[in-house]
Amino acid sequence: MIIDCHGHYTTAPKELEEYRKRQIAGLKDSSHVASKGSLKISDDQIRESLENAQLKIQRERGTDLTIFSPRAGGMGHHIGNATTSQHWSETCNELIHRVCTLYPQNFVGVCQLPQSPGVAPKNCIAELERCVNEYGFIGCNLNPDPSGGYWTDPPLTDKWWYPLYEKIVELNIPAMVHVSASCNPNFHFTGAHYINADTTAFMQFITSELFKDFPTLKFIIPHGGGAVPYHWGRYRGLAQDMGKPPLKELLLNNVFFDTCVYHQPGIELLLKVIPADNILFASEVVGAVKGIDPETGYNYDNTKRYIDAIGWLSAADREKIFHGNVLKVYPRFAARGTKR
Ligand SMILES: [Zn+2]
Repeated sequence: MIIDCHGHYTTAPKELEEYRKRQIAGLKDSSHVASKGSLKISDDQIRESLENAQLKIQRERGTDLTIFSPRAGGMGHHIGNATTSQHWSETCNELIHRVCTLYPQNFVGVCQLPQSPGVAPKNCIAELERCVNEYGFIGCNLNPDPSGGYWTDPPLTDKWWYPLYEKIVELNIPAMVHVSASCNPNFHFTGAHYINADTTAFMQFITSELFKDFPTLKFIIPHGGGAVPYHWGRYRGLAQDMGKPPLKELLLNNVFFDTCVYHQPGIELLLKVIPADNILFASEVVGAVKGIDPETGYNYDNTKRYIDAIGWLSAADREKIFHGNVLKVYPRFAARGTKR
């Protein structure tokens, strides 16, 4: 079984975007009382939105199941206030639940959290519990920068985040570190902000005592870990200079990387540098880079091809990357379907 641990509902029916536009328009009117409102999308619309996109790609590329979450660039935690984010996150998560209910063999859910800049992360606990306990979701996307590119909240290792981590550990789920849109014009969202955030989170983990406080807390750093595998020597050296234990001991029981790296040499470097125990297969379809690479004739985001092409990868390591590590990092995966 081949599991893609990182897919977003980027092809949701246009009614979702219209809902969001109405929500944002309401923010401009001071007399407007925020209400959740309603989203009307039929099951057939959901099927249509997936059949020629994510489902077609699964069939063509030979992946079996995608761990599926709302569109990351659309989370927009910086928009409005905590209530705005609450209503939007609930609506997006409910739609993911419907996808997973319609296609239980193809998708399993991960939620967006109702984060808001300056608002304590413990505010997200009720929605997280709802998604895990009622919908059978197996993880969450955690935005390390709800401000959208200005980094106004404390680092991920600050006690500010601890009540949320306590709940994440109690629920036995991992968090994928995933920013959303960038409203800082210096940072293109998928080209710079995402990769910056992946790298930043890793360095925050090195400098902290977070995994002493939460020995079982697990994070997935997506997009191949940002700059981390390429600069592994730098991070090893920095940890050493700080008197920290080797990285493997310091954080590789807690930090995992996905394979959303869109060229052969990049994937090979990731697999040479990071132990196979810490790598999960992913492609982030349909997502960040949609085009076809003229050098290969295949889509950039067809990451399975790159892994398949690595002759030196052992069968055991290949199995871990495609399947086995998911069972370890997402313990609720095995129990999926029991709470739908
Ligand atoms: Zn993503």
